[in-house]
Amino acid sequence: MKRREKNQGGCEEAPAKLADANGMTCSRDADGKSGLSKMRVMGVLVACLMISSVFFSLSVVLRDPPSDGVPPDERVLELNAKSRRETGSVEGTSHSVMGSEDKLLGGLLATGFDEDFCISRYGSVSYRKASGHKPSPYLVSRLRAYEALHKRCGPNTEPYNRAVEYLRSDDGSPKQFMGCKYVVWISFSGLGNRILTLASTFLYALLTNRVLLVDPGVDMADLFCEPFPNASWFLPLDFPLKDQFHGFDQNSGHCYGKMLKENSPDVMNKMKQPSFLYLHLVHNYDDQDKLFFCEDEQSFLKEVPWLIVKSDNYFIPSLFLIPLFEEELNNLFPEIETVFHFLGRYLFHPTNPVWGLVKRYYHAYLSGFDEKMGIQIRVFDTGTGPFQHVLDQILACTGRENLLPSVDRGRSILPNSYSHKSKVVLVTSLSLGYSEHIRDLYWENPTTTGEVVSVFQPSHEEHQQTEKQMHNQKAWSEMYLLSLMDTLVTSSWSTFGYVAQGLGGLRPWILYKPENRTAPDPPCQRAMSMEPCFHAPPFYDCKAKRGIDTGELVPHVRHCEDMSWGLKLINPSND
Ligand code: GDP
Repeated sequence: MKRREKNQGGCEEAPAKLADANGMTCSRDADGKSGLSKMRVMGVLVACLMISSVFFSLSVVLRDPPSDGVPPDERVLELNAKSRRETGSVEGTSHSVMGSEDKLLGGLLATGFDEDFCISRYGSVSYRKASGHKPSPYLVSRLRAYEALHKRCGPNTEPYNRAVEYLRSDDGSPKQFMGCKYVVWISFSGLGNRILTLASTFLYALLTNRVLLVDPGVDMADLFCEPFPNASWFLPLDFPLKDQFHGFDQNSGHCYGKMLKENSPDVMNKMKQPSFLYLHLVHNYDDQDKLFFCEDEQSFLKEVPWLIVKSDNYFIPSLFLIPLFEEELNNLFPEIETVFHFLGRYLFHPTNPVWGLVKRYYHAYLSGFDEKMGIQIRVFDTGTGPFQHVLDQILACTGRENLLPSVDRGRSILPNSYSHKSKVVLVTSLSLGYSEHIRDLYWENPTTTGEVVSVFQPSHEEHQQTEKQMHNQKAWSEMYLLSLMDTLVTSSWSTFGYVAQGLGGLRPWILYKPENRTAPDPPCQRAMSMEPCFHAPPFYDCKAKRGIDTGELVPHVRHCEDMSWGLKLINPSND
């Protein structure tokens, strides 16, 4: 269009100060009024046409799914992600990109939070495929009831102040507690372990009507938003026992296992109720500590106002073996393998700095592909790596299970008629070598299918550096990014991988643990469920008072794929 040329609507280009957003306006001649009303009619017509064409396109997309099998929801998400990338607006409050998305996750999340304060809480739904799982109405109602309890009894309320006073003086009456009892979680071990133990302790709090309070440690507040509305889950800094947390172990005076060791059941029954007990549920715990998982001991613990827990294990599978909790657990989780999936999505929302890491990485490297796959590499061998046997194992697994296409080393280029599907692989590892090798493999050779494979790794921290803020923020963001993938390959024994699979609702392929620096054959196995593995469960029959294989008692608690003595929850119908 030439400058000053009349356009179809009888308008011409105007001087800059009169121009509208498009640089166009109507001429102000004698016929100005009728020109304007014609324009209005035309405008309305154009708007109607545009709206109906959008509706038409949407109805076609929704009625006939695209032939590449990408669900329409995801397509819309990807389109929006792409257009956001193009316009550069990837930061700030996440606006709904799918329109109908369920930001409360089927009622799992409460309303009423300040969205800007924790953008991930309601924003993460835009980055995930719709979950195939729905929380039970009973779980939703128990969470709302828990939130009310937390608000009534949480830090700086009158019941909390009284309970703390009792802890200080140890001479009050339990009646003073106004119906509030507490379980305190001590920040301990690697980040993946902490997420799993915190979820376990929260479920224990739900089952026993206690209020969960969280030791902030050095970094918990940097990593996680508050999960409960109108009340903090963090233990106030002046909590009387705080300085003792680090030193609590099996020999501590208030350790419940130690008390059981030193006193007969008769003596225990007559004992004055302690103001607090320390529960040692760390992997090195002994037979008496493990009695925590027996119903009789639960009756004793029920009366104690303060329980302090230290653990590095996902101990939920053994809670399922305590008859006292059986019915409640069945009601909470009719679909049994969703326990961590729902607790994790309910409790763990990345803080804005961590969410920034997630979003920036996602938009820069992961959006816009047909398929997304995560490979989580955790090597427990000594030495820095990368190790050839680990690389061989990963490629054997992805090849054998058809997770990644094989390469055609005999050809340098494929004809255009081959598939142009794109696949992105997100590798997480402490060392860089594995992803570099996989990336080069797919750069130097075409795939046999024509698929295009891109490989990215966000960080390579070389070794665990738990004391560093950015190190932990990166670790958390990487677990989260893995959880946004369509498929996952994870490493045996790694809680880092368990967190990703549980949050993502993904049943991963687990790489078997190599022995003697040799790639195992078969290299990997599909997990039976998305649940994490409890690495150090008790093997004890509380009623018969003798050892028993707790992986054989009920169909929904089985030994893990990656650790033969571990326990995990599965849906028996998945067998
Ligand atoms: P686990 O030891 O594999 O069970 O997982 P944890 O999360 O409990 O502890 C391992 C820690 O090492 C992590 O928390 C990180 O600090 C670090 N780490 C291990 N693998 C990775 C990785 O792939 N990326 C990053 N950023 N950190 C990792």
